[in-house]
Amino acid sequence: MREPIPGSVPSLRGLRILRARLRALNSNTLNTLLVKPMKISIIGTGYVGLVSGVCLSEKGHHVTCVDVAPEKVEQINRGEAPFVEPGLPQLLKRNVGKRLRATTDLAGAVLGSSLTFIAVGTPFDGSQIDLTYVRLAARQVGQVLRRKKSYHVVVVKSTVVPGTTDEVVRAVLEKASGKKAGRDFGVGMNPEFLSEGEAVHDFMQPDRIVLGGSDPRAIRALRGVYRPFHNVPVMATTSKTAEAIKYTSNALLAALISFSNEIGNLCAALGGIDSVDVMEGVHLSQYLTPRLPDGQHHRAPISAFLRAGCGFGGSCLPKDVNALIARGRRAGCDMGLLSEVIRINEGQPRRMIDLARRHHRSLRGKRVTVLGLSFKPGTDDLRESPAIRLCQLLHRAGARVRAFDPVAMPAAKRSALFPHVTYAKTLAAAARGADVIMLVTSWDEFKRLPSLLRGMRRPPVVVDGRGLLSGAKLTNYEAIGLGRGDGR
Ligand code: NAD
Repeated sequence: MREPIPGSVPSLRGLRILRARLRALNSNTLNTLLVKPMKISIIGTGYVGLVSGVCLSEKGHHVTCVDVAPEKVEQINRGEAPFVEPGLPQLLKRNVGKRLRATTDLAGAVLGSSLTFIAVGTPFDGSQIDLTYVRLAARQVGQVLRRKKSYHVVVVKSTVVPGTTDEVVRAVLEKASGKKAGRDFGVGMNPEFLSEGEAVHDFMQPDRIVLGGSDPRAIRALRGVYRPFHNVPVMATTSKTAEAIKYTSNALLAALISFSNEIGNLCAALGGIDSVDVMEGVHLSQYLTPRLPDGQHHRAPISAFLRAGCGFGGSCLPKDVNALIARGRRAGCDMGLLSEVIRINEGQPRRMIDLARRHHRSLRGKRVTVLGLSFKPGTDDLRESPAIRLCQLLHRAGARVRAFDPVAMPAAKRSALFPHVTYAKTLAAAARGADVIMLVTSWDEFKRLPSLLRGMRRPPVVVDGRGLLSGAKLTNYEAIGLGRGDGR
């Protein structure tokens, strides 16, 4: 087939072919034609670093992902995602070897790019945020900047307490590079709001983009990174405010969850009230379910955080709230409300045990099945999952603990988090012979539980930590926030 010659009048057939080809291009491929691609390096290929790298390459940029773990790097270069995240394998396969690659060579990646994101972990060390990885990454990047001739922008994407980018990262970069920020290189802060299990969707269709920094050239470069994202509010502010926006967003969600848990615990104590009904009535308020101009009622997604359960976990909410409390206290603030948020959360797994004890005074020797190990559905991330604390408490109470999770069992077996737990191969096997079943993660598959238990001669007690089975007809059903009887 002959291609139309540029400048010549295309034939009717040529036009038809061109139109068919344009139709075949998806919007992201079109982006690569319309957007000025940038060369970007990302330090750290965890949930944030890899998802950002894959999505930015899908949007048309050339991305090099850097990690210290060679096996992770090889996996990524083979087109295999190192963790479970819906949609990630497809986008990774599509871009790896084209606009995306992974390497352990940090210096090569920084030299070959014009902007570097730092996306390494920022754990909580028990008393404050641990910046070891951020400092190390900043020092390594700074050492490369020492010999880099062209202008470069360094952007903190890790979640760091307010002041870190300007007071710590900038200083480390200047010292290691021997150069001046704002003159020889740029520094910025760009918090990430993705949520595991929906990370690809959240990154590709963000609700907001927050760009922090006081250097106009760095902000301009960051705007270039996000140019392929259309109809998204972009907020440019200082790095310190950008850092505070991220923490405040997480603290709000954590506070809503603990608020709901306190109400749920109250309903359980008072008796005769189901907190699901209470929250349903609260949800109908115009603040949470406003009436739109067309007369329809629209439920705000934040309503999802207003339900009682066995507590929040994950790599962000617990550590971020703790880090904010620690930072606030160092600044002389009481942080009483957020301290309570954590205290209530840590008490929720024990509520599951209390509910089981309504049926079995002692759990010693009882066969207890824990359904769900990951901290939420859609991921195999076990970090700070309520299942960890629950399994510890059950073991201490003398129970024989068996677990089932449709996705996270390989990760659980690799980890040292569940030392006293045995694993069932299927949901049906997990349910068989159990005295108590405790539902911790709201995987869809667990909705099949009532049908699996139907007809059992000695049905187990079901303790629902997510309100997933509320409404299902189950004998011996208990749920957090479900007030039975007249209360105490
Ligand atoms: P992670 O622990 O999954 O990944 C961090 C990666 O960085 C690891 O693969 C590690 O090997 C690598 N690394 C550490 N130091 C390095 C170095 N010097 N050079 C190269 N690689 C290095 O972490 P994550 O969950 O992706 O979180 C990263 C940051 O993003 C944290 O600050 C976190 O709070 C924040 N965040 C996380 C989420 C989330 O849902 N996981 C969402 C928003 C923000």
